[in-house]
Amino acid sequence: QAKERGKNNFRFYSSNLNGIPIRKMELENGLRKALEQNQFMLFYQPQVKLTTGEIVGIEALIRWQHPGHGFIAPAEFIPLAEETGLIVPIGKWILRKACEQMKAWQNAGFPHIPVAVNVSVRQFQDEHLIDYISGILDQVGLEAKYLELEITESIMQNIEKSTIILNQLKEIGVLLSVDDFGTGYSSLSYLKHLPIDKIKIDKSFVDDIVYHSNQGMMVKTIIDMGLNLQFVVIAEGIETEEQVNFLKQNKCEIGQGYFYSQPLPDMQMKEFLRVHQSASPFEVKKLG
Ligand code: C2E
Ligand code: MG
Ligand code: MG
Ligand code: MG
Repeated sequence: QAKERGKNNFRFYSSNLNGIPIRKMELENGLRKALEQNQFMLFYQPQVKLTTGEIVGIEALIRWQHPGHGFIAPAEFIPLAEETGLIVPIGKWILRKACEQMKAWQNAGFPHIPVAVNVSVRQFQDEHLIDYISGILDQVGLEAKYLELEITESIMQNIEKSTIILNQLKEIGVLLSVDDFGTGYSSLSYLKHLPIDKIKIDKSFVDDIVYHSNQGMMVKTIIDMGLNLQFVVIAEGIETEEQVNFLKQNKCEIGQGYFYSQPLPDMQMKEFLRVHQSASPFEVKKLG
C-alpha cells in the first residue's frame, strides 16, 4: 500500500505488520517513558482583561520534547495519551506542576490569579479525580479558587455523570470553564444548569469576526447569551487589534491569544509578569 503511493512517501506511510503507523507506535512507546524521563514541560499563556490590559489568569499548556522526534504538539500526543490511558498519570503531573508554579509566583509577590489547566475527558471521568485534585491543592498549599479546570463540551454526552462530577469539583472550590465553546454539543441553556463559571469562545469563531458579518453576529450572540446567564466570557486565539476592538465593543471581558502573548516557558512568563506588573496597565496596549 505504501509502495503504491511512490517511493518518496514510503517512510511517511510505513507501518508495522499490524498496519499501525510507525510514528504512532514510536510516540506511544515514548509516552510511557516521557514522564520519568522528564520530557514534558508546561508553557503559560496570559489571559487579559480587554478593557485594561490587566492579566487576570494564565493557561498552562503542555509541551513534549521527544528525544528522537523533537517537539511534538499536544494535538498529536494528547489523543494518544487518552487512548492508552496514560493521560491519567500525565494529567496528574500537569495539575501538580501548574499548581506548584502558581504557588511559587504567588510567593514571589505576583498577583494572585488562577491558573487554568486543560482536563481531558478520560481524566475527567477518572473516579479518583476529586481526591487527587484536593490532595494536590493541600500539598502545594494553593487555594482552590486559584485553580481553574478547562473541560470541553464533549463531557455533555454523559450529562448525568458529568453533572455529579462538576458539582463535586465546585464543592472543592475550583473554577470551571468550558473550553472551545461553540464547537461541540452543548448549548448555553444546558450549561446554565451546571456550576460553570466561564466559557471560552473557540478560536475558530474569533478568527474572522471582523470581516464576515455572520461570524461576527455569532460571536456577539454567544457573548450576549453568556453574559445573560452570568458566565464570564473569554475569547481565545486573538491575533489582531481589530479582533480586540470588536470583542470590546461587544462586551467580551477577557481575551487570550498571540496578540497579547504566545504561550511562554516558566522563566519567560515570570519576566512577562514582572514587566507587566511594573507598567501602568494602560501603557501596555500590546503586551510583551
Ligand atoms: P486549547 O486548550 O484550546 O488551547 C489553545 C491552543 O491555541 C494552544 O495550542 C495555544 O498555544 C493556541 N493558541 C493560543 N493563542 C493562539 C493564537 O492567537 N493563534 C493561534 N494560532 N493559536 C493560539 P496548543 O498548546 O498546541 O494546545 C492545543 C490543544 O491541546 C489545547 O487546546 C488543548 O485542547 C490540548 N492541550 C494542551 N495542553 C494540554 C494539557 O496540559 N492537558 C490536556 N488534557 N490537553 C492539553
Ligand atoms: Mg484550553
Ligand atoms: Mg481552547
Ligand atoms: Mg481551542
